[in-house]
Amino acid sequence: MPPDLHSKLPDAGISIFAHMTALANRHGAINLAQGFPDFAPPEQLFAYLDEGVRSGYNQYAAMPGLPQLRTALARRLRDRYDYEADPDSTITVTAGATQSIYTAISAFVRPGDKVLIFEPAYDSYGPAVRINGGQALYLRLELPDFSIPWDALEQLLSKETVRMVLVNNPHNPAGSILCADDLLRIGELTRRHNSLLLWDEVYDLLVFDGKRHRSALEFPILRDRSIVVFSIGKTLHNTGWKIGYAVAPEALTNELRKVHQFLVFSVNTPAQYAVARFLDSHPGFTDELHQFYQTRRDLFWDLLRGHPDFEFLPCRGSYFALARFRASATTGDLAYAEHLVATLGVAAIPISAFYHDAHDPGLLRFCFAKKEETLREAARLLWLGKA
Ligand code: PMP
Ligand code: GLN
Repeated sequence: MPPDLHSKLPDAGISIFAHMTALANRHGAINLAQGFPDFAPPEQLFAYLDEGVRSGYNQYAAMPGLPQLRTALARRLRDRYDYEADPDSTITVTAGATQSIYTAISAFVRPGDKVLIFEPAYDSYGPAVRINGGQALYLRLELPDFSIPWDALEQLLSKETVRMVLVNNPHNPAGSILCADDLLRIGELTRRHNSLLLWDEVYDLLVFDGKRHRSALEFPILRDRSIVVFSIGKTLHNTGWKIGYAVAPEALTNELRKVHQFLVFSVNTPAQYAVARFLDSHPGFTDELHQFYQTRRDLFWDLLRGHPDFEFLPCRGSYFALARFRASATTGDLAYAEHLVATLGVAAIPISAFYHDAHDPGLLRFCFAKKEETLREAARLLWLGKA
């Protein structure tokens, strides 16, 4: 008799990103679904990776991350957010932001603890909570701006004991950003109810139209109860290197590292070396990222302006453009996305995948972290197929 699996995630299938990417590959379609650049990382990064491998960076790195990388990251946090991070006690390098998020949840969420997740939400949050025995409480962000439902949040925090609140800013897939007042209000509410805060700020450098990202690290009211997560993959166009990091006060970092130590112990050494060398030698690289991506966003919007089937929503941050689709609205977003990839050769992500109950507001997500010619070809195909 086969063993009883007692699955911890009985309802989980493959991720929507993997599903749409597989369909894109099968149909030879343009993949604007999964969030990754189709252009190369900066050339110098390769040279540093080679240098790392050849100069002996091939064994385990220190558990919290290569010291020179943590130092480079601390400098970045000081320059950007005026935040003094002690590289020894407050920064932990992880295998992508995904591992930081999982590790933070695993370190602080005990069986039965409640974790508040705003939806739409990145796909790893809910499962990470459930695997660790926690209970996810979901609150829907309010369209059209994906704003926080403050009254509902306040009621929920007064009614339930919420161990952790998870906030994604800038937001995937909404493309929305939070302002200083939002952060302060979250700080007030969570302090009153003594909840921890887990901030997913992987798109911190991708904020457009002259605005700047407001990190939780900038606000003293938030710092002592916050773990803030970043991703190098979004910064240096190398998502496959899977380097991320978590920043938290020493007491929280100590707990986070206890789990990190037994989950992965340490992260790819030569990749950490290369990233540190790159950040040290190209301090201005990240300053231009927002402009680099804003140009792509604007191009994609321009190419599809006036398309009868898609109406784009604002995108203030991240590398995703959301479109309300008019055609085939009755089929549901997943079926519509599958139809687009099979018939027009363009893959996008249906937004219902970001809701635990498959709520479908009739939106598709397009990733514009692509070469200009990729965006032009995708737009051409989408125009060809207009209803
Ligand atoms: N959070 C969000 C909101 C993301 O969009 C992603 C990746 N697209 C991640 C976390 C994971 O980042 P990483 O690839 O560094 O694990
Ligand atoms: N974070 C990427 C996105 O939102 C996908 C990463 C993944 O495939 N898990 O598209």
